[in-house]
Amino acid sequence: MIIVLKNHTSEQEVNELMSWLSRFNVSTNLVQGVHSNIIGLIGDTTHVDIEAVQAKECVESVQRVQEPYKNANRKFHPDDTVIDVRGRIIGGGKTQVMAGPCSVETEEQIITTAIAVKQAGATMLRGGAFKPRTSPYSFQGLGKEGIDLLLQARKVTGLPIVTEIMDVSDLDLFADIDVVQVGARNMQNFTLLKELGRCDKPVLLKRGLSGTLQELLMSAEYIMSEGNQKVILCERGIRTFEPAMRNTLDLAAVPLLKQKTHLPIAVDPSHATGIVSLIEPCALGAVAVGADALEIEVHNDPKNAWSDGAQQLTPPKFAEVMKKIKALAEFMGKPVDDAQ
Ligand code: PEP
Ligand code: MN
Repeated sequence: MIIVLKNHTSEQEVNELMSWLSRFNVSTNLVQGVHSNIIGLIGDTTHVDIEAVQAKECVESVQRVQEPYKNANRKFHPDDTVIDVRGRIIGGGKTQVMAGPCSVETEEQIITTAIAVKQAGATMLRGGAFKPRTSPYSFQGLGKEGIDLLLQARKVTGLPIVTEIMDVSDLDLFADIDVVQVGARNMQNFTLLKELGRCDKPVLLKRGLSGTLQELLMSAEYIMSEGNQKVILCERGIRTFEPAMRNTLDLAAVPLLKQKTHLPIAVDPSHATGIVSLIEPCALGAVAVGADALEIEVHNDPKNAWSDGAQQLTPPKFAEVMKKIKALAEFMGKPVDDAQ
């Protein structure tokens, strides 16, 4: 971190600032120039409150030279994080495909869809029991009943379950869930992130609607700094000026995140586009840019779905898309996991 001091800062002010900075356990290095002085901070500056430094009377500007995230940073952990979910490997040279309906609706719906996605080659089952909906009048999810139906679908198919948590107080209901999803709207629910950091479950952390990559990484840091290192980041489209699609899929985020972090990266083309015909090309694009996992909405009867009908694939269409995903993933050297 580099702190530029204002012109004519007195020696006493400099000394006071240096002694204040020593509380952060970093060493300070004063460089005296002709017109202004600069203090360089050396060591782990993740705990230095940049705004508090900026607020000091004698400080002109402050600049970080290192990222504010440490646990998620590839610089400190060069090797890829590999997460084992019931024998499915996320981030370890395999591609995972999490597929299933937007919402869990009925026993028949979830079981039929689970069997179909498994037959097509999906490696995990997704489905929402707690649904974050824009309108309070829309279907809000089955809650506990939905979780029970997902566990039933796991019994039938063996597919690990990915499902979203919206509230810390529901955590006990997720005891048997394999991957806990934090949705885009909760990317910065820091209370929830910290609590998930204290449990030992893989967390699928989705990028917020207007979340920068650094904010996404800092949210991962919230989970990891509490102890849980099993975090998967998910690009799911961001909100831009373009209304033609539900969101704008930021595919470049995948290789950029790969440079910045050792965590596995997933892509959700369904919420990113909201348009059924765009799922295949965007899913393939995600595989081509190096995603470790895909999350795709599939429904046995999309026209009558209780949520997100316009973006859910039918099982036959999903099977077609899976064939291409498998071929491309193989070509990319990250074959779709075939663990059963
Ligand atoms: C979902 O996956 O069901 C979902 C609501 O996604 P997002 O949080 O990305 O909107
Ligand atoms: Mn959905």
